[in-house]
Amino acid sequence: MTFDELQAEILSLSDLPGVDFFTMGYSTLGKPIYTAHIGSYDGNQVIVEGAIHGREYISALLLVKQVKYLKDKTFRGGMYFIPMVNPDGVKLVLDGTTELSCKILEDYLTMVNNKSNNFYRWKANINAVDLNVNFDADWGGGALNVFCPSSENFVGYYPNSERETREMIKFTEKIKPALTLSYHTKGDVIYYGFTGLTEEQLIRDLKIAEAVSEENRYTIIKTENSTGGYSDWVSRHLGVPAFTIEVGNEKYDSPIPINQLQIIFEQNKNGPLIALRAYQNILTTNRVFNLFKNPFLCK
Ligand SMILES: [Zn+2]
Repeated sequence: MTFDELQAEILSLSDLPGVDFFTMGYSTLGKPIYTAHIGSYDGNQVIVEGAIHGREYISALLLVKQVKYLKDKTFRGGMYFIPMVNPDGVKLVLDGTTELSCKILEDYLTMVNNKSNNFYRWKANINAVDLNVNFDADWGGGALNVFCPSSENFVGYYPNSERETREMIKFTEKIKPALTLSYHTKGDVIYYGFTGLTEEQLIRDLKIAEAVSEENRYTIIKTENSTGGYSDWVSRHLGVPAFTIEVGNEKYDSPIPINQLQIIFEQNKNGPLIALRAYQNILTTNRVFNLFKNPFLCK
């Protein structure tokens, strides 16, 4: 698959009835970060993001399929899908450096990539910063963090140093989502419970993770020592449920083969909808519980 072919899949959402399609922001090299919205703009909003890591571009294709599948469903609230947060990194993985038109940048990236011009395992953005450790959430405290440009795990020179990171923050602060889902590869795992949540919030998020797991049968893991990721940032700054979902069976090498897409889609086609409904059920239950607890409010 080429980058143009992948991007054409995302752009195919732009003329679908029931889908609002727009550019949420831009990458370091100025590529659009496309976003599709379905449902209502009133009520709880979900943000779903994919391909923040270059080699995990299968998650972009998953999100495209989710939009097409979920757009005709009935639900309260709305969902924003950002299939490819890191278009520069994805293009590097799929097309290599051929169209960079900048010999110095090409040489630099090849050097960072252990002198190889095969970038198929690249996770970072075009600055060799790993976007999912660049967010201002216990930045630089992760066990795998590195402090020098790399194909993966480089936190950047300072928190939120990257344009893609800042675009995500700006957009998320504007939308104020009820919850977020971040799709990565691989391992069939749902991570929940990022740093900074209260006991009550952890119980809430576990319930939502359990609902999502009923469909995809993935293992639920309480996150330990995660730092600098989008889910970390959402938890720490907004306190709303944030989940990182690792799609694709562990037995496959990265990137996950495209022939796994249909299986991954079948496992996750309702994920955002299940999470939203589970969240709304918890809100309703809490409201009823509080009425019983505080009957004088019920006048
Ligand atoms: Zn990832």
